[in-house]
Amino acid sequence: MRAITFERHGDPSVLKVATLPEPQAGPGEVVIEVAACALNRLDLWVRAGLPGVRIALPHVLGSDIAGRVVACGEGVDTAWRDQAVVVNPGLSCGHCESCLSGWDNLCRHYHILGETAPGGYCERIAVPVANLLRKPDGLDMAAAAAVPLTFLTAWQMLVVRAAVRPGDVVLVHAAGSGVGVAAVQIAKLHGASVIALASSEAKCARALELGADASVCTSDPQWPQAVRAHPGVGKRGVDIVVEHTGKDTWPHSLALARKGGVVVTCGASSGYDASTDLRQVFFRQLQILGSTMGSKALLHRILPLVESGALRPVVDRVFPLAQAELAHRHLDTRTQFGKVVLQVGSDA
Ligand code: ZN
Repeated sequence: MRAITFERHGDPSVLKVATLPEPQAGPGEVVIEVAACALNRLDLWVRAGLPGVRIALPHVLGSDIAGRVVACGEGVDTAWRDQAVVVNPGLSCGHCESCLSGWDNLCRHYHILGETAPGGYCERIAVPVANLLRKPDGLDMAAAAAVPLTFLTAWQMLVVRAAVRPGDVVLVHAAGSGVGVAAVQIAKLHGASVIALASSEAKCARALELGADASVCTSDPQWPQAVRAHPGVGKRGVDIVVEHTGKDTWPHSLALARKGGVVVTCGASSGYDASTDLRQVFFRQLQILGSTMGSKALLHRILPLVESGALRPVVDRVFPLAQAELAHRHLDTRTQFGKVVLQVGSDA
């Protein structure tokens, strides 16, 4: 089968079309004909090489898969055959204390498809049946692939970790990113007031269309003052900051959170060696919460909300699988609003 692989870490030019052996469905697994696979910033980092993370090369990227079940392994209900599905990107052992307590993303054996396990930049992939969810009706395959990783991530950040409540003022960094698009909508769904940050006026306008109450363009270095000028913020600050930009914004995130407020972080796209003024943390009793991915169970909450239209995946641009290199270059420009998706099958 056709796949996009890389044999060494490097810039997008290392991505090559290759022919790989057909995957087989082992016990408890299904083979999926991939129709669409969405990109994540994770893909760029894994391709470039993550310090301390060793993966077997050649590697296949891709965490967000939508497609159709074409084969069922031993022990799998054959009713899954021919079903259109979305794949939960987290793999875990399924029987440790973390897995059994609904925190499979804390499992010692946790892997993400496309990160430390082979992913969906390919025509077919074998995955555990436990990772399947029925594709929401009314979504095409590209939009379905745009849901799992970022909505899961943003849901855990806001709902599970930060316990967002009606009336909270939530500041969302990089609102045009995958996590940002999801966070704006999830915060609104829970009755919060959202201030969206984005790097251009065009992205700010899109964030308002998604439901944000206000937007602030971060191309102006005075953006923290602009956030404070919002009537719901002022000297008090915001209740929750959704952080995933890291070094460039971290000191501002701490300063803009209210006393006792929450800064929840799932990433550091501008650098992970941010500096923390500890006085901000202890005097103002901030809660700094880490978050990564979300349990498999959360996607069962999220997909019905996508099906009903309460949450909307946003697709920026679709590329054919063979143009994965161009898709990576496009994601790297940070000009996109929403998800960049690779179309694999003909029904994407
Ligand atoms: Zn486990």
